[in-house]
Amino acid sequence: MYAIVDCNSFYCSCERLFRPDLKNKPVVVLSNNDGCIIARTDEAKQAGIAMGTPYFQVKDLLKEKQVEAFSSNYPLYGEISLRVMDTLRQFIGESNVEVYSVDEAFLQLTDIPFDHLTTVAKQVRDRVEQWTGIPVSVGVGRTKVLAKVANRRAKKNKIKSGCIYVLDTVEKETAVLQETPTGDIWGIGRQYAKSCIDKWALFDANQLRGMSPLWAQKHLGGVVGLRLLQELRGIPSMEWKAPLTQKKMIGTSRMFGHSVSTLTEVKEAIATYTARAAEKLRRQSCAATHLSVYLVPRAEQAKTGHQHASGVYAKRTLPLAVSDTGTLIQAALQLVVGIFEPGQVYKKAGVQLSEIVSEDSIQTNLFGESMGENKKKLMLALDNLNVSMRNDILKFASTGTKRNWKMRQEKRSPRYTTRWEEIRVVH
Ligand SMILES: [Mg+2]
Repeated sequence: MYAIVDCNSFYCSCERLFRPDLKNKPVVVLSNNDGCIIARTDEAKQAGIAMGTPYFQVKDLLKEKQVEAFSSNYPLYGEISLRVMDTLRQFIGESNVEVYSVDEAFLQLTDIPFDHLTTVAKQVRDRVEQWTGIPVSVGVGRTKVLAKVANRRAKKNKIKSGCIYVLDTVEKETAVLQETPTGDIWGIGRQYAKSCIDKWALFDANQLRGMSPLWAQKHLGGVVGLRLLQELRGIPSMEWKAPLTQKKMIGTSRMFGHSVSTLTEVKEAIATYTARAAEKLRRQSCAATHLSVYLVPRAEQAKTGHQHASGVYAKRTLPLAVSDTGTLIQAALQLVVGIFEPGQVYKKAGVQLSEIVSEDSIQTNLFGESMGENKKKLMLALDNLNVSMRNDILKFASTGTKRNWKMRQEKRSPRYTTRWEEIRVVH
């Protein structure tokens, strides 16, 4: 059996954590630049605030309905998300958790007896709420797709369901599939949903489940459609992704907020991206031997006729696999100095780490020392700090768009969990 754990109105719930006065009050979170509504609580939904609405359009309505609006505070959401996922891992074991998105994770409930599923689902819900303060909904089913269907059902009437729904009988499964519109099945594309309805008169998931495998393969996108059908029928057909998939390549790159032409700025960017990549590397307990950096000049469309210039690139193999930011930055900066051309205007820069090995398989050689305990401790401290740096990084990339930058965070809450100076004070 599988469960999906989904945080309720995740961004809004994160905001409420530090503002208990907003409990049961309508809350919305805005996209970057305070553009539009990207998250809302049930109360905000009831107040008639639609998802995706531009902020300026509903400003008056928000005021009238006393809806609290926040700019997005990604350092906060990211850190709370880690806490939620760690709580799940501790509860059910690391290999049984597959993080699906910032606020969703699948759980594998293989060893749990059938009549215990509801109890376990409730324990998961309570544990996450107790440990992190974030309310979650749990859907349980024979497959991932069915767990998703169950979760949708749990969310429909949160008070009645207690945010839990377990598809533990055939009857329940059929009933819930019957009330799931085709377009709401997880994994079905909009186009396929439309053709299911228009061409085949398949209005709900139960009708769709009755179709033949051959039909699914032919009309629902080949293997993907077949898998979806199997999943609806209770046959697990989606891969369980190992939680610690070690990436073979780690890259960080970004378009600059404005064109960059000085070596100082380029170096700053490269150092920043290297730090990020190194952090990703350490998160999967690995080290890398191969490092490359690249710069993309601003496209000279008139001359080349191409939308994207190919960029300049430099690479280096390190004598030893490393994961500490200092060493990697040093190497990256040497490389970028070599490819930087004075007078050139750049629009993008990137760093890539490859030849990645597991930290405990690093071999020392004559030319290098392995990462000492002190460096390891330093990196651990740095990783904790890095989370709090994110906003500065963002700020760097958009130095030129000053007005936007100021607007962007007009209503941002403090970064409670990642900045000492913004920590919540209790009087
Ligand atoms: Mg959610």
